[in-house]
Amino acid sequence: MVRRVGWTPQDDAGAMRRTPMETVIARADEILHPYTLEVRDIAWSSIYEVGHRLTDRFDDVLPQERGTRVPRMFIIGDACHTHSAKAGQGMNVSMQDGVNRAWKLGHVLSGRSPAALLDTYS
Ligand SMILES: Cc1cc2nc3c(=O)[nH]c(=O)nc-3n(C[C@H](O)[C@H](O)[C@H](O)COP(=O)(O)OP(=O)(O)OC[C@H]3O[C@@H](n4cnc5c(N)ncnc54)[C@H](O)[C@@H]3O)c2cc1C
Repeated sequence: MVRRVGWTPQDDAGAMRRTPMETVIARADEILHPYTLEVRDIAWSSIYEVGHRLTDRFDDVLPQERGTRVPRMFIIGDACHTHSAKAGQGMNVSMQDGVNRAWKLGHVLSGRSPAALLDTYS
């Protein structure tokens, strides 16, 4: 299950994407205070909807099953967590998921580690 933990309300019905440019500029001025933006011409614009989402776990083993069987399915990156673009985390954390997943799977498949190592990924 993926939980939304972000800033755009779930019942927003796309309202965020219809934010007028005047509101965007006013918000930018607020953030940049004591400086201001002088917007003369807008050639193109879009609204980026921030969404924090987090899954309950990163594999197919339920909490009550942990330790009784090894996981056989894994999810990585944006499939299990998304972040505010402001923090620059998404790709960084996703690549760490991938490296973590890859070396553990490699060690188990090549017989260097017991299958229980796969439990430590989630
Ligand atoms: C505007 C913006 C700015 C960002 N800035 C940053 C930043 O500064 N720093 C940072 O670390 N992160 C940033 N991110 C986040 C980062 O881009 C993502 O977290 C990262 O790309 C996630 O990688 P991923 O491989 O999990 O997913 P994706 O990169 O989304 O890869 C998933 C792939 O699966 C493919 N796919 C989907 N469905 C199927 C299917 N059924 N069959 C086959 N293929 C399929 C998709 O086409 C896609 O290529 C930003 C994201 C956005 C949108």
